Amino acid sequence: MISEDSSDLEIIEIALDQTLADAKSRKMRRASKRKSSNPRYINRSLKESVHHRSNGQCEYISPLNSKRCQARRHLQIDHIKPLALGGKSDKSNLRHLCFAHNQRSAIKLLGVEKMEQFTVAPQ
Ligand SMILES: [Zn+2]
Repeated sequence: MISEDSSDLEIIEIALDQTLADAKSRKMRRASKRKSSNPRYINRSLKESVHHRSNGQCEYISPLNSKRCQARRHLQIDHIKPLALGGKSDKSNLRHLCFAHNQRSAIKLLGVEKMEQFTVAPQ
């Protein structure tokens, strides 16, 4: 608090403290409003929404027998229409796939040559 007895140094210190507090407050407000510029970024709420819809199970359905994959481990969030082909990271374009079906889907859409760098070679 500035009073008539405050020295110039005290007044400057109080003013600097207030300026720093204002700057920190502005910086925190900007950070909380900022969205990720990474199109691959899927926020926690969206991940939870996909998990809720899939019931924690791979969403791949076999075109041969219309049965759904039973995998519940190593689930990955897949872009149905890949980002590389203009797909978006919104709920309608996301699904849960197990690792095997995610790789299969990517190879089918993007080709073996493109996906070779991401696939694991059999030992
Ligand atoms: Zn699966």
